[in-house]
Amino acid sequence: SNAVSGAASILTKLQRDCATPLPVLRHVADAMTADMRAGLQADGGSDLKMILSYVDALPTGNEKGLFYALDLGGTNFRVLRVQLGGKDERVIATEFEQVSIPQDLMFGTSEELFDFIASGLAKFALKEAGKFHLPKGRTRELGFTFSFPVKQTSIDSGILIKWTKGFAVSGTAGKDVVACLNEAMIRQGLNMRVSALVNDAVGTLAGAQYWDDDVMVAVILGTGTNACYVECVGAIPKLNSPPSTSAKTIVSTEWGAFSNGLPLSEFDREMDSESINPGEQIFEKTISGMYLGEIARRVLLRMAKDARLFGDSVPEKLQMPFSLRTPDICAIQQDSSKEFEHVGSILYDVAGENSNLSVRKIVIDVCDTIAKRGGRLAGAGIVGILQKMEEDSKGVVFGKRTVVAMDGGLYEHYPQYRKYLQDAVTELLGPDISKNIVIEHSKDGSGIGAALLAATNSMYP
Ligand code: ADP
Repeated sequence: SNAVSGAASILTKLQRDCATPLPVLRHVADAMTADMRAGLQADGGSDLKMILSYVDALPTGNEKGLFYALDLGGTNFRVLRVQLGGKDERVIATEFEQVSIPQDLMFGTSEELFDFIASGLAKFALKEAGKFHLPKGRTRELGFTFSFPVKQTSIDSGILIKWTKGFAVSGTAGKDVVACLNEAMIRQGLNMRVSALVNDAVGTLAGAQYWDDDVMVAVILGTGTNACYVECVGAIPKLNSPPSTSAKTIVSTEWGAFSNGLPLSEFDREMDSESINPGEQIFEKTISGMYLGEIARRVLLRMAKDARLFGDSVPEKLQMPFSLRTPDICAIQQDSSKEFEHVGSILYDVAGENSNLSVRKIVIDVCDTIAKRGGRLAGAGIVGILQKMEEDSKGVVFGKRTVVAMDGGLYEHYPQYRKYLQDAVTELLGPDISKNIVIEHSKDGSGIGAALLAATNSMYP
């Protein structure tokens, strides 16, 4: 029909604009490497901020005792406690709880939000029993995973630059979030203090390396995205007077802001210009979970308008930004039935129209195009990081087993995306080197990592 052929030509153009053949991947990987170097050279020298984590002691496995972690990064916060038993016993026990943050607190004052969190922590700490044991007279120590932009000033302090992800809390920006939490814990009468402030990528790296010494990189692919890696202090020119040039630290690339040479379509440009942060976070807008569904929605809307893919009227729901979510396009790709019935029912929910087989196939191809580009570009970004590390340390990354720890809902739940990411890494590195590079989902997430970093930065040595 006319509708299908019109939509097919929109699809063909989309596929051309979003194509990621090997030369494009190579360009992205090389540009990532170059931007990393520029960001290490000087603050503001690159799209990549290359933020120092102040993590200079990674967990060794010898950590012992009771430690807490708090993860604040979205509409929930998670609290966790872990009893560490040292080299042989490792993790003796863990317990966690998740608390959802009432909507009004996301628009309230800083004190109200931190008091709510501290009171949740206090209730959780009251249930400490069984295998969990705090030696008499000690203060509980907490690793604080805080996934908002902060300017870190030491391992246990960081100034909030701004709230994101729907938070509009007054009175925190410009303040030290660790002090905010410590003060709230005192107000709640809770005997606990923050020993380490980390972002979720850094927590994931620390947690994964605790089990596997070969973990050198961690990547978060969830609502947003970030990557961090182990760097030599001596390779960070912007760091004045390094304590010892052979010492290691973790650098957070903040790679969501990368933008060099990405294959973008008109749909990406429109989404960006209508976003709350136009011109910013372009890599994130191309590869992360918040945006993949929205890009697909914009393509389908165009197909509805220009080619009448869903009949004479343009479905109302399809006109609503973010009404097609990444889990929806993921579900569309999981349908392996002959008639794509499940795709039909998802489309019925979104477009309120019945669809025939050729329409369903086009929709599947749209989703695949967006997921493929996202996964392959994420893979190229990972190669960019590995390449930088290899250039500085000939053979130590590519010549032996090196692990990239992955976490985040997008990576965890989207098998096609995961496969495309791996494909790009293999294509770029070739069969020999890619045998050494292990890209794997990190089981513990960032929670235990944050608790481990609290342990390595404990005030009780
Ligand atoms: P966050 O990044 O918000 O801290 P997560 O790591 O759990 O939390 O990631 C959640 C994101 O993962 C969602 O916003 C969504 O984009 C993506 N996601 C969740 N479930 C799926 C799914 N089934 N398929 C694809 N993406 C998913």
